[in-house]
Amino acid sequence: MIEVTLLGTGSPMVDANRAGPSTLVRAGDQTFLVDCGRGVLQRAAAIGVGAAGLSALLLTHLHSDHITDLNDVITTRWVTTFERTPLPIIGPPGTAAVVAATLEALAPDVSYRIAHHADITEPPAVEVHEYTEGPVWDDGGVQIRVAPTDHRPVEPTIGFRIEYGGASVVLAGDSVPCASLDALAAGAGALVHTVIRKDLVARVPMQRLTDILDYHSSVEEAAGTATRAGVGTLILTHYVPPLAPGQEEDWRALAASVFPRQIELGDDLHRVEVHPGVCVNR
Ligand SMILES: [Zn+2]
Ligand SMILES: [Zn+2]
Repeated sequence: MIEVTLLGTGSPMVDANRAGPSTLVRAGDQTFLVDCGRGVLQRAAAIGVGAAGLSALLLTHLHSDHITDLNDVITTRWVTTFERTPLPIIGPPGTAAVVAATLEALAPDVSYRIAHHADITEPPAVEVHEYTEGPVWDDGGVQIRVAPTDHRPVEPTIGFRIEYGGASVVLAGDSVPCASLDALAAGAGALVHTVIRKDLVARVPMQRLTDILDYHSSVEEAAGTATRAGVGTLILTHYVPPLAPGQEEDWRALAASVFPRQIELGDDLHRVEVHPGVCVNR
């Protein structure tokens, strides 16, 4: 069984009730944080997960809303571990430069803590791996592979497919429909996809907002990807505009007009269990 928890279902727009884009995937005894938006560690704490317990941080792309709390994940991992435990960070090309710049920004803090704590003797340990395609993880029965997505002009961007014990989950990140995402998601137990309501966004007479229409999937487009790929369950997140209380069924109906199987959406901490061939929501 793979457990998916929507830690943050928000977007760049600050929302009092939704943390920034981030999803937690637990498979066997391993825990993967996929993207690290605003407030992610607070949400993770709510389900008993801390930075020290992460097996790896997976980044779909380097848009700010998806990496807002990279510094928090790196620093909290560093100060809450008591032996050297490098944090694997897997992302698209460009990730190493962003991580290096983050560490540079943290340099004063790092120097303060090394000077003050006798048992902290080196800076945060991270292991950055950049990929656009292929297998990226094979450990303890968990396999992960990546494929390119299409979020242009943001590029490169990648989606992740995590497999464990016959169960599988694909995390699309931000993408418009594309053949490589279809192939990555083919036959998966669940597809976690970010979505925007193009019908609502298009009505707002503000160019800066309508600019986002061309590089995100609408609810129906995400559902189309799920249908073509034949996934068991579609999990929607990163709602733009923020999913307001009472509107869940409107969003679900749009997805259901295209995708015939189970559809999951909701608030931060919504949890879905993905079993081989079956999916159970909590
Ligand atoms: Zn993005
Ligand atoms: Zn985004």
